[in-house]
Amino acid sequence: MRILVVGRGGREHAIVWSLSKSDKVKKIFCAPGNAGIAQLAELVDLDEFAFDQLVQFALDNAIDLVVIGPDDPLAAGIVDAFEAAKIPVYGPRKNAAEIEGSKIFMKNLLKKYDIPTAKYETFTDYESALAYLRSQPVPIVVKADGLAAGKGVTVCFTREEAEQALADTMVGKAFGAAGEKVVIEEFLEGQEMSILAFVDGETVRPMSPAQDHKPVFDGDKGPNTGGMGTYSPLPHIPQSIVNDAIENIVRPTARAMVAEGRPFRGVLFAGLMITKDGPKTIEFNARFGDPETQVVLPRLKTDLVDIFLASINGRLGEIDISWSDEAAVCVILASGGYPGSYPKGLPISGLEAAGDALVFHAGTAEKDGRIVTNGGRVLGVVGLGADIAAARAKAYDAADKITFEGKQNRTDIAAKALV
Ligand code: AMP
Repeated sequence: MRILVVGRGGREHAIVWSLSKSDKVKKIFCAPGNAGIAQLAELVDLDEFAFDQLVQFALDNAIDLVVIGPDDPLAAGIVDAFEAAKIPVYGPRKNAAEIEGSKIFMKNLLKKYDIPTAKYETFTDYESALAYLRSQPVPIVVKADGLAAGKGVTVCFTREEAEQALADTMVGKAFGAAGEKVVIEEFLEGQEMSILAFVDGETVRPMSPAQDHKPVFDGDKGPNTGGMGTYSPLPHIPQSIVNDAIENIVRPTARAMVAEGRPFRGVLFAGLMITKDGPKTIEFNARFGDPETQVVLPRLKTDLVDIFLASINGRLGEIDISWSDEAAVCVILASGGYPGSYPKGLPISGLEAAGDALVFHAGTAEKDGRIVTNGGRVLGVVGLGADIAAARAKAYDAADKITFEGKQNRTDIAAKALV
């Protein structure tokens, strides 16, 4: 098979790496990719939003399967574009990707179908939003409705912070059009957990759960990022809680999407808070998580191509999907200054010293034969081991050997799982 993967981050590197292990795959292309992906796939110099050109590329190059990585092109209808040209494509259509593209759509869906989530109100007008905010206790959470590169959510512990976040979102337009509408929601206390599942209509095949670390600094301090590290599985979270989340949140949501005439095909990713009243939904994503994918796919024993094809052919319920017993830990190496502004183009050394740790590239590029930084999150270093402690030691050992000016990483990834 000839496969085209669309995207340029660590998630796409992990997807390409997983696909490259399949004996069904003859050649992989990636548009636009990065310097790490270039070692496994031929890069195509097309942007994720160049739908017409991507479709033409797939037709011209006899592509058998297209896989979409990121959220924005999904929300903009990239899957519909490939389907219109009768090219097999893995990912949700525009009307199903709205579960991530609009938090208001998602919250209203969960409310209608009585699926556990934080209490909330939605607003299109700043004055009414402010009046409501002032009537609520803190902490409270202010969320831009639309996609904001993972940054549209502010968890506010004081009234001042909350009013500032609302003004920034609705008046200052910190997240552009994504913040014209907002969700103001109840603060949920507990441990976070992500469940990713392969979904095709009502068929839900959960992946092994993972946990991300959003804040930039150790001890969950500092502003939120796209994610600073992950681990899988979650030994400290009982299987009964995972099952509760699958049966009471993920499956009912897949059924609700079918009932709404928006069947979901692709990876449905539930961000959950394990509260004292059980798991509640924080968000849904309509694609593989980044950096969750980097710890989940290395543990997948089944051929990823088989899963994608089974999904596209409506046979997802018929195949065996199995996971390795090994644990995986991913440590993100980020540019100095991230999630604020940061320099680009700094040379990276020590990549060859990573041993048998996996190094997934996120923001990297090749310049004059050297690999240089090219984004906020630069690399995801993944250790695999018999348990979390062993996987973590391997990931940090390799992460310490890789250097670039200003490199920053959290030193407490997966620490919660060791207690
Ligand atoms: P989101 O982009 O919706 O995943 O939100 C980003 C982060 O904000 C989440 O990973 C949580 O840590 C936090 N968060 C979002 N909603 C809530 C909530 N209702 N209660 C507590 N924390 C939240």
